[in-house]
Amino acid sequence: MRHDSTGRTFAPESIAAQALGWVDAETRAIVSPIHPSTTFLRDPDNQYRSGRVYGRSDNPTFDQAEALVTSLEGGASSMLFASGMAAATAVFLSLSPGDHVVVPEVMYWSLRSWICGPGERLGLRASVVDMSNPEKVAAAIEPDKTRLVWVETPANPLWGVTDIAEVSRLAHAAGALVCVDSTSATPVLTRPLAWGADFVMHSATKYLNGHSDVLAGTLTAARTGEFWERVRATRSQVGSIAGPFEAWLLVRGMRTLFLRVRAASKSALAIAEHLEPHPRVLSVMYPGLSSFPTHVVAARQMDGGFGGMLSVRIRGGEEAAVRVASRVSLWKRATSLGGVESLIEHRSSVEGPDSPVPRDLLRLSVGIEAAADLIADLDQALAL
Ligand SMILES: *Cc1c(COP(=O)(O)O)cnc(C)c1O
Repeated sequence: MRHDSTGRTFAPESIAAQALGWVDAETRAIVSPIHPSTTFLRDPDNQYRSGRVYGRSDNPTFDQAEALVTSLEGGASSMLFASGMAAATAVFLSLSPGDHVVVPEVMYWSLRSWICGPGERLGLRASVVDMSNPEKVAAAIEPDKTRLVWVETPANPLWGVTDIAEVSRLAHAAGALVCVDSTSATPVLTRPLAWGADFVMHSATKYLNGHSDVLAGTLTAARTGEFWERVRATRSQVGSIAGPFEAWLLVRGMRTLFLRVRAASKSALAIAEHLEPHPRVLSVMYPGLSSFPTHVVAARQMDGGFGGMLSVRIRGGEEAAVRVASRVSLWKRATSLGGVESLIEHRSSVEGPDSPVPRDLLRLSVGIEAAADLIADLDQALAL
């Protein structure tokens, strides 16, 4: 419903609020039904005119979720997966043994562990680089051998921002594809395809759903083609498909995406600015702070805010950081991010001994509570 019958165009928040303006043709329901069926009737002449055969390939409940993500990202096609990891690994599993990929030094830990473990055992060759430095990306790309450059921006959990346009230019000049994990930015703040990326991935478990009650992932392609069809085949072959109830909940969550992300971004900036001069705080990592090393790229690439995620290094090392986390009450000590409730986590405890994350770092996912309440809770936890 980018255009209605009068030809008017709508802003993305209007499109999200009405989940594309879907109305059921038969019942006039404005909320779509859930289709639990795993199998579909074959026509008497042995054809499948509906295009539906079996539930490991797709499900009618996906259609609205996929179409809405496609619209918000400005892409050509989207696919829904069982989780963000299922979406991301489907891209790598659609490459061939011997293919070279360039991945960031700082990125979602489980995915980096998969690429450098099982991914390499399956024949991928990965170069791990500092993505905030385009010269390092250029040096790592092997012309005609590098098939994929993986970007995550802002990158979990240090929130460095990658220049998508510059990395895409370098990758495309060498014949490589670019996929951006845009989980923390969301289509509200960054649209990677408009900056030149080929694919955008989300852990829809996070902001897209936004209520910490669905595991799902999405991929969106700037254009369809052979590689996209390979990814589609991978999803069906591996069975990394979302459940229909999750797809339905995801559409419901995405209707409030813009309100949630804007509220969280506003509070996160206030919290970052409050904590930066705090005597118990060593440093604050947040793309919206002018002191942040990649702030200039963030200011150009992110529109309407810098996201709800920040990290804080606490003076006094790991013990002090864990103590601060133990003293909060409104913030919840839990992993994950992008929900309406604020979460705090001692990140290196989650990533384990090989993690590059400083041991004095707390990762904060800002929800939609009153910023003053969140700040007061942090202040009392930091006192002493
Ligand atoms: C959570 C997350 C993932 C993995 O998503 P799941 O839904 O947990 O499988 C990937 N990338 C980022 C940035 C994430 O935060």
